[in-house]
Amino acid sequence: MRAARLAAGLGKKVAIAEEYRFGGTCVIRGCVPKKLYVYASQFPEHFEDAAGYGWTVGETRFDWRTLVANKDREISRLEGLYRRGLENAGARIIEDRAVLVDRHTVRVGGETLTAQNILIAVGGRPNPHEALPGHEHCIFSNEAFDLKELPKRIAIEGGGYIAVEFANIFHGLGVETTLVYRGKEILSRFDNDLRRGLHEAMEAKGIRILCHELIEKVDKRPDGALDAHLKSGAVESFDQIMLAIGRIPNTEGLGLERAGVETGVKGEIVVDEYSRTNVDNIWAVGDVTDRVQLTPVAIHEAMCFIETAFRDNPTKVDHEMIATAVFSQPEIGTVGLGEEEAAKRYDALEVYRASFRPMRHTLSGRQEKMIMKLVVDAASRRVVGAHVLGPDAGEMAQLLAIPLKAGLTKEDFDRTMAVHPSAAEELVTMYKPSYRVKNGERIDD
Ligand code: NDP
Repeated sequence: MRAARLAAGLGKKVAIAEEYRFGGTCVIRGCVPKKLYVYASQFPEHFEDAAGYGWTVGETRFDWRTLVANKDREISRLEGLYRRGLENAGARIIEDRAVLVDRHTVRVGGETLTAQNILIAVGGRPNPHEALPGHEHCIFSNEAFDLKELPKRIAIEGGGYIAVEFANIFHGLGVETTLVYRGKEILSRFDNDLRRGLHEAMEAKGIRILCHELIEKVDKRPDGALDAHLKSGAVESFDQIMLAIGRIPNTEGLGLERAGVETGVKGEIVVDEYSRTNVDNIWAVGDVTDRVQLTPVAIHEAMCFIETAFRDNPTKVDHEMIATAVFSQPEIGTVGLGEEEAAKRYDALEVYRASFRPMRHTLSGRQEKMIMKLVVDAASRRVVGAHVLGPDAGEMAQLLAIPLKAGLTKEDFDRTMAVHPSAAEELVTMYKPSYRVKNGERIDD
């Protein structure tokens, strides 16, 4: 959508084909509805926390169908905005599936169109986990948004963004939730401190987390309940089992072979640093290329494509220092390298770490702790990683992304005035390293 809108705005003749709804995974069945559900799931804690501030909250009741209907309305509103944006820019909208016929030709909606440039941005879908016997009984994030009713008990397999976020959503909405993860600790690509901190906080809320565990088979009983046969030998019963074990590119049936476009081992479209495929007038951006599966990254890739293809300004995609948030509860916000990753890249690190109860939890009595961590390359003094676990961590990560992207040093952080009282002030008031890391070894002062 971004590429189509910008290209049309430049006066190019643009057609955009979509077989389902405009907005992509993010708007239709990803980030946006997910965040709305996160908000919904946080109310029970707000109600509990209110008591310490003098409020008595009366009887509360949650209606899943109201949430789903209101979410649908908001998604339709957003979809309308995106459509109008495309139309106003002068792009032609074709509501059908497009298939490549050759490197300049596309078959779509009963028409055959030719184009000088073709951009493929068809995204991905949840890995269906066909190796799992009984996978057909399971749901994926797509279905989780629109269940007819909330289950009483759910198991979620996976330890990544989607599994962790949905475990918190379902738990917050009152579902008995079990997270089943094959590895040692959830969120394998994040800083260890945050992983452990989040795991403990989720367990303290009542989410069951089984690490070093796998679902090996799923059976459906006549009454509809699902039996999960676990690697440990246990058999546990759930109303729904959700699989969130990664997403795969949507490249089947696109006619890529006919156009001669190269794909990789997972079916992803192989592109160069400018998002150009091996066929020089065909480009691809977003999840279909399996680079970094995040919406703002896809949008950035699209803008680089516009610069390169239409503005005579070849622009490489920049995948360095991408800020990201996991909308777990508590939230994770992170930019740059985790301590373990940084220790592999730099000989000497300084680690600044604070763990404290945020002010809003003093009167609420909630015991949840916030973690903040800065990882500094001792030689250059640059802050190479910033990690936050706690309320509004995602918002903080966005702002932390600026100094880290700019390559600022720990001294720049120290020179920055704090905003008081805030949780984020901790990020500019950690003056002494908590410990150092030399050649991968932790050294406590
Ligand atoms: P992730 O790649 O984040 O996580 C996949 C998880 O599934 C990992 O824990 C992985 O384990 C586990 N896994 C992989 N294969 C198997 C298997 N065969 N059996 C059991 N477990 C397995 O994928 P998600 O599906 O959670 O999300 C897809 C992508 O969408 C994310 O990578 C992210 O980029 C994006 N996203 C971003 C969000 C955000 O920005 N807040 C929110 C949601 C999604 P292991 O760690 O051991 O490999």
